[in-house]
Amino acid sequence: MAALRNADKVEQQTVSFFEGVASLARSELTPILQQIDDGEIFPDKAMRRFGEIGAWSAHADLRDTIGGISAIAEVCGATAFMAWCQDTLVWYILNSDNAALKAKFLDRAESGQLLGGTGLSNPMKSFFGIEKLKLKGRRVDGGYIVRGALPWVSNLGPDHLFGTIFELEDGSDKVMFLVDCADPAVTLTPCQPFLAMDGTGTYGVQLRDVFIPDDQVLAASAMPFVKKIRAGFILMQMGMGLGLVRDCIELMQGVKPALAHVNCYLPQQPEDFAAVLAELEGATMRLAATPFDTSNAYWREVVEPRLRAGDAAVAAAHAAMLHCGARGYLKSHAAQRRLREAYFVAIVTPATKQLRKMLADNAREHPGET
Ligand SMILES: Cc1cc2nc3c(=O)[nH]c(=O)nc-3n(C[C@H](O)[C@H](O)[C@H](O)COP(=O)(O)OP(=O)(O)OC[C@H]3O[C@@H](n4cnc5c(N)ncnc54)[C@H](O)[C@@H]3O)c2cc1C
Repeated sequence: MAALRNADKVEQQTVSFFEGVASLARSELTPILQQIDDGEIFPDKAMRRFGEIGAWSAHADLRDTIGGISAIAEVCGATAFMAWCQDTLVWYILNSDNAALKAKFLDRAESGQLLGGTGLSNPMKSFFGIEKLKLKGRRVDGGYIVRGALPWVSNLGPDHLFGTIFELEDGSDKVMFLVDCADPAVTLTPCQPFLAMDGTGTYGVQLRDVFIPDDQVLAASAMPFVKKIRAGFILMQMGMGLGLVRDCIELMQGVKPALAHVNCYLPQQPEDFAAVLAELEGATMRLAATPFDTSNAYWREVVEPRLRAGDAAVAAAHAAMLHCGARGYLKSHAAQRRLREAYFVAIVTPATKQLRKMLADNAREHPGET
């Protein structure tokens, strides 16, 4: 957090935004952390409270948005993921050219009255040749009819909303749109228990010939829109990793008084992670100042720290486990929860393997470019 506070471009206003979100995260989430982790509570009340203090409406400067997600991630990885889902939904709506869609949804999504997320894992994997698009649609009067199923979409509930992409049946184009979970032709099926993230309102979603009216179309030609939103999509995920690493450093520091005499033999110390954290924060904040840069060099620069954030989250959580020892092995201790949450930073789309593929493909397609 110190590095984030000291970063050149972080002004007073940013710090107070960060502190506001951090303070609410501590007061709203700490008492229910265990239940969120166990999947007994979906913290929708907290998500709405964050909206009330402006946590979902800070996209004019993405550095604020990322700082906010990181403040939540210091306390709870599951809620930080939901924060990313909500911020990403707002990011889609905000960047759409569809005035009717914006008028209908933007205020409510920014204020947290309307909760939701994004179903872009399958489309993102399809763009990089990893799997086929799962949703198909066709044009009808006033909108589209869409069918297909997505295996996991988070921050959902009966009246929530999420953005995703379908392909026209004739293969001529792809359309990015919002799904309204209240539509009777949309079915949400609870997922089997996960290693962590059970409190994130994650469902399998089936669309059975759902009518998508034109005021739910984010972009009738999805690919140029994806190019516009993709850097923000990935940079906001950095908040999840940064906050988690920050807390792992705190956990390691916290056991120093009792265990420094033996923990000093461990190969990775909190100071090592503090250096990695400062570097990742610096890169993230610099890149987040220009999220609409569409150059190849910028895209590579965005993908690289995202890959490193997944690695750093897992490494820091692993080190926190070793530093905390038996106390960290208790089911009630944060260290083991952070380890389970850290793996999610590394496997949520774009997963570590996808990021590595993206960098390898990019180097092949743009040799010599940095
Ligand atoms: C808790 C949780 C929340 C998520 N939330 C979202 C979200 O909000 N939005 C979103 O778009 N994505 C979400 N995802 C998906 C996530 O982003 C990744 O896509 C996912 O973790 C797998 O990514 P991967 O690249 O490792 O793919 P892989 O796991 O390598 O491959 C994925 C493919 O494997 C197949 N597959 C995976 N699991 C099974 C199974 N149990 N049985 C049969 N086939 C299977 C499916 O075809 C799937 O498309 C979520 C995943 C989890 C675990």
